[in-house]
Parts: sequence; C-alpha cells; structure tokens
Amino acid sequence: MHGHVPGLERNGLSTLADLGFWPAPRLCRIVYALGILSFVMAFIAMPPAARAKESDTPTQVDVLDKIIAQEQAEMESLRKYSPLVETYIQIRRQDKDVGVAPGGDKYFLGRAMLAKGVTLERLAHDTRRGHNGLSGSFANFFSMEFLQRGFLQMIYLDMNGFDRSHYEFHYVRREFLGEVRCLVFDVDPRVKTEKGRFVGRIWVEDRDLHIVRFNGIYNGSFIFSYYFSFDSWRQNAGKNEWLPAVIYCEEGNVEHPVAKNRMTPAFRAQTRLWGYALDHAQEEQELTRVLVEVPGDQTESATDYSPLQANRLWTRQAEDNVIASLEKVGLMAPYGDVDKTLEAVVSNLLATNGLDIQPQVRCRVLMTSTFESYAMGRTIVLSRGLLDVLPDEASLAALLAHELGHIVLGHRMDTQFAFFDRIRFDEKNTFRHFAFSRPLQEELAANRKGSELLMNSPYKDQLATAQFFLRALQSRSKEIPNLISPHLGDRMPTNWTIASTALSGPAPKGKAADMPATASIVALPLGGRIKVDPFSNQLHFLNSKSVGLVSENERMPFEVTPAFLYLTPTK
Ligand SMILES: [Zn+2]
Repeated sequence: MHGHVPGLERNGLSTLADLGFWPAPRLCRIVYALGILSFVMAFIAMPPAARAKESDTPTQVDVLDKIIAQEQAEMESLRKYSPLVETYIQIRRQDKDVGVAPGGDKYFLGRAMLAKGVTLERLAHDTRRGHNGLSGSFANFFSMEFLQRGFLQMIYLDMNGFDRSHYEFHYVRREFLGEVRCLVFDVDPRVKTEKGRFVGRIWVEDRDLHIVRFNGIYNGSFIFSYYFSFDSWRQNAGKNEWLPAVIYCEEGNVEHPVAKNRMTPAFRAQTRLWGYALDHAQEEQELTRVLVEVPGDQTESATDYSPLQANRLWTRQAEDNVIASLEKVGLMAPYGDVDKTLEAVVSNLLATNGLDIQPQVRCRVLMTSTFESYAMGRTIVLSRGLLDVLPDEASLAALLAHELGHIVLGHRMDTQFAFFDRIRFDEKNTFRHFAFSRPLQEELAANRKGSELLMNSPYKDQLATAQFFLRALQSRSKEIPNLISPHLGDRMPTNWTIASTALSGPAPKGKAADMPATASIVALPLGGRIKVDPFSNQLHFLNSKSVGLVSENERMPFEVTPAFLYLTPTK
C-alpha cells in the first residue's frame, strides 16, 4: 500500500532555524555519549548559509539516519511487550453555565499484544451499554474495533516506511521536554496524498536520538479513515529505552461554530499504557514478601493460633491473594508512596477515634482511571483515577472513612480467595472474578459509620469540599457514566450526607447556598495528582506547582485534559 517513491532523494533538511535561541548554560551538567554529541553539535553549528543548500552534508544525513534507525529499533523492541492499554473518551458539549462540559463517555481497557502489531485483548469496556450519552450517528463512531486498534496505533509513528525515501525532515529548533533536551523536526510525507503517513512534529532526545514525542495526524481523510490529531508521548524506562506512555487526542471545538457541521462529535481522549515490566515487578514483590512475612507478630508469646487468629489470618490470606493477582496482571500498583499517604490518613482517622484495628488496615491503589473505592477484609482499595480528581485531603479522608466504616462494622469479604485454586483464572475474566460490591444495607451503614469517624477526626471542619465533591459527582453522573462506574467495588456514595454541619458555613454571595465559593475547586481534571511509571507501575504524586485559577473554564472537573509529561533522562 505504501510504495517506495523514486526520484525524491533530496533530504528535506534545509530549514535550520532559531540557532541562537537556545539557552546554553543549563546543559553543562549533562554528559553525552561520545559521537552522538558531535553529530548534534554539527547540527547546531550549521551556519545560516547552509539553509539554502540543495543537498545536505553527510553529518545531517547521519543524524537523520540515526533517528530513523533508532525508531526502527524501537518498533522492533516494543514487540516483546504486552502492556495494558486504557482509552477514555469524553464527548464535549456546550454548557450554559461553564461553557463546555462532558456529554457522554467511552471506556476501554485491554492488553496489547505488540508482538502481533496493534492487537488488543479486552479486559473491560463500557459498563452501561446504550447509556453512554452518545446518540444517533455518533453512537457508532467509536466502534469497539476502533477503540481497540485506533488509539493503540498512535504509539507508532509509521510502522510501514518511516525512512528518508518516504519522509522529509525539517529541523525546527532545540527544546527541553522536562529535563530532556530535544531536537525538534517537522516531518512530512514526500507524497502528500499517501494515506496513513504521519504529518506533524517530532521531538528527538539528543543523547541517543530516540523519538520521545510526536504530535500530528496520519495522512488521509478524517471522516472516512477515523484519523485525528494526536500527541503521543514516550517515557524513559531506563536502560536506554523509551516506552509509549500517554496519547492525547482532541477533535472538534464546541466553542467554535464550525464544529456543528462536523459528522463527528467534539471529544477529548486519553490513552494510557503501563505494565511493561510485569514479570520483573512480580519477582521483586515475591522476594520482599518472603522477607517481611516470616516473623508473624501474632506469635509473640503463644505458639499456636486461636480460632479467631486463624480466621483473621485466613481473611488476610484472601486479601493478599487478591492483591497479588491484581498486581500480577498490572491492575494494582506495587506498594509505594501513594499507599503510604493513604495509610497516614487512615491512621489519623483511627487514632482520633481511639480505634486500634488488628491486623492493621492497609491501602492499595488500582491503576485504572475509572473511579473505584472498596474495602476487602482490612484492605482499602481506591483507584488512581479517583485519587486524581479529589479536591483535597478532607475529601480523601471522607472516602477512606466510608471504607473504614465497612471495616469497623465487620462487613465480610468473600474469603474463598484464600484458596489458591480460586485465584487461578484467565486474565480477561479478572473483573468478573473479583467483585466486591456490597448490599445497599451495608453501604448505608458504612455512610453512617464514616460520618461518625469523620466528626471525631481533624477533618471535621473541612468536610464541605468533600460534600461538594460527592454532589458534583452526582450531578455529572449521567455525562460520565463510564468513568464513575466501578468494575470491582461499590458505586461512589454520591447520596451520602457526610455530616449535617458540613455545609453550615456562610453561604457564598451570588451563588446558591449549596454551591461552593468561586475560588474553591470541587473536583480536579483527570490526571490531576498521580503520575505513573509505565515500566514498573509505581505511582507517585505529581510534583507540580498549583496554578492559581484564572477563569471558570479552567476548572474542568472530571475532564480529560491534554497530557504534558515531564520527561527525565537516563541517570
Ligand atoms: Zn461502600
């Protein structure tokens, strides 16, 4: 389909620009591999006169050849991976109050078999068919087939002919992405009409010449081919490897009248990939577990287990088995910083309520964007997506208090998972296999208990935001059904009145009494808090400065936003 184009041998490197633009001093501390540096320097030192040259010097050609070779090697090395791939699409509609708001969503989670190209095995998808807010011709626009393959495709620039015979490269400038210094090129197919060719810009880290970001579109008609603009980011996995991590797509502009004539709805989508090193992570995990769990603290003075202790150990074994299974398939993050923070909040709640629960309450985080929150045994599980959108610590405390409510009230978990045969199952059945939702009765009881715990806690005077958060979630629930539908646990307790005093502060002027003051944020956009290491699945809190709100339309509660990764070089 993509034929070789003869007669176009001229390398397109003719627009060296912005040479004096780059601030030099910061670069000194970076050590460059010999050889590459000289290529790069040759680039930068190119005199302006070179711009007009018809043919390129061997050095320029060398750099381009190296970039292309590196990208070919990247495509080849990706074949050994089977990462998880999650795509979340949010349709955007006009809203008379806030300008633009979500108006329907779509969700897909699967495992990519990169050895077989862009093939995905489905783990989870829209939980509520026919209720995703899409209607008419839009409904079929994001077909399952497209969800599975279309977005995954965007981890590759061009699988079939990324070379100088098919592409022209125009050097633009140098630019930092995070801490990584990049050469920036505009890339165009030599034959403009060739379908599926990439048109856009690439960022190439200047040490080993890996493409770390590309932003553009695959050539061809959008309407007929379902291509749209995308921004594809790769993240450093160490060992001289850059792995596809996040792809952001956006199409249509609801604020702009032209959008109304389009055949497709305006939308934003984020595809995330993680779990590249699952086997490796698992080995480390096993080792730590053996070291930690040999001396049990139940045996301080006694050498036998009472039936009560045996029962507790049995439940913990069931919890451990579920955690291990979820971690193994890459759905749960390895224990780390974020879990410790959650456990600190739980400790606050327990200590101020004079509760000492044994065995200790643990917290773990699911990797998914969909909102999940549940307790199994003495383990509280929240999802990354949910943590992302929480406006403050008191809101986090409220959700944890609800789950603690289940634990304090002794709501049971299914301990069948303590049997090791019960955790052997086909990966694609994970969500069906583990179900931790509870009867309404227990939910209401956990709400009451949760309120009680909160009212004795240091968070008791800060619960208004938590209440606003749950209300915002409830009012948006029809527009983001797939984001808020849990795959494993309970639905979010959106009807929960946390504390009767939570909203009794002074009512903000000019707003209904149940609306928060203009300056406060009821919920953050997706990706607002947690960053993911796609290789190890480790989670960390984002280290970003809080940006003062500028306007109403910058609030974006629960919304998909563009991704901008802070890239770091191999140390
Ligand atoms: Zn619950």
